[in-house]
Amino acid sequence: MIVVKVGGSAGIDYDAVCADLSARVQAGEKFILVHGGSGETNRVAEALGHPPRFVTSPSGYTSRFTDRQTLEIFEMVYCGKMNKGIVERLQRLGVNAVGLSGLDGRIFEGRHKDSVRAVENGKVKVLRGDHTGTVEKVNTGLLELLLNAGYLPVLTPPAASYEGVAINVDGDRAAAALAVALKADALLLLSNVPGLLRDYPDEASLIREIPAADVESYLDFAQDRMKKKVLGAAEAVAGGVGRVIFGDARAGQPVSAALAGAGTVVS
Ligand code: ADP
Repeated sequence: MIVVKVGGSAGIDYDAVCADLSARVQAGEKFILVHGGSGETNRVAEALGHPPRFVTSPSGYTSRFTDRQTLEIFEMVYCGKMNKGIVERLQRLGVNAVGLSGLDGRIFEGRHKDSVRAVENGKVKVLRGDHTGTVEKVNTGLLELLLNAGYLPVLTPPAASYEGVAINVDGDRAAAALAVALKADALLLLSNVPGLLRDYPDEASLIREIPAADVESYLDFAQDRMKKKVLGAAEAVAGGVGRVIFGDARAGQPVSAALAGAGTVVS
């Protein structure tokens, strides 16, 4: 079993990802696909007159401040446009894909954080009314039913809080928790960069290999959202996933290239 997470940033070629994945599924390999949708969510939020608000925590992590209206726009794009777009591509390629969010069947479950500490103008503020959280539990029952019946699950945030409220969670870390829960052989984190870059954005500075035991020390190379991928990789390898690969989803055969070691391999 391989968990593939494909991001939501500009430049990602979903046709290429789906074509590559479908060829491998038809050859008998088992996958679960997790996807993002941040770029499109930002565009739709702007168009609806509720532009995104990003906050940076005192420890340097950037996240989307998710008030109720933002959560609803987020669901429209992630669970609607993005999820159904990917399911449709896979169905056209002959793969029986089923799109679900982490809310459905409580696949992704975690604690709801109602407030977030954010640095604004050099000061730490507490912002309330946030609908975010972290995946702490993956309920694999529904996924196992689908996998055993030959479906390809296509998953997306949000997750369910323990109280059953929708929460925005980081897709990379959700995919990492999923890979651990399913004892996946590998986790691919595909985005619009060749992998983890030592000197972002210089693509020639690609880091090819990271020993599993050292992965957290590479957090220093990652800025903003890339930090979540490094953190997700650390959580996955600590949880027993054999390999995590940061790969490029902009062209070619993104899944096969990453499995052949083209990006940054954490093992
Ligand atoms: P996605 O939504 O595709 O999962 P993110 O936007 O969450 O992707 O994270 C990938 C982004 O992280 C890249 O597009 C890049 O702008 C940024 N980034 C920051 N630091 C690095 C780094 N050291 N190496 C590669 N990308 C980096």
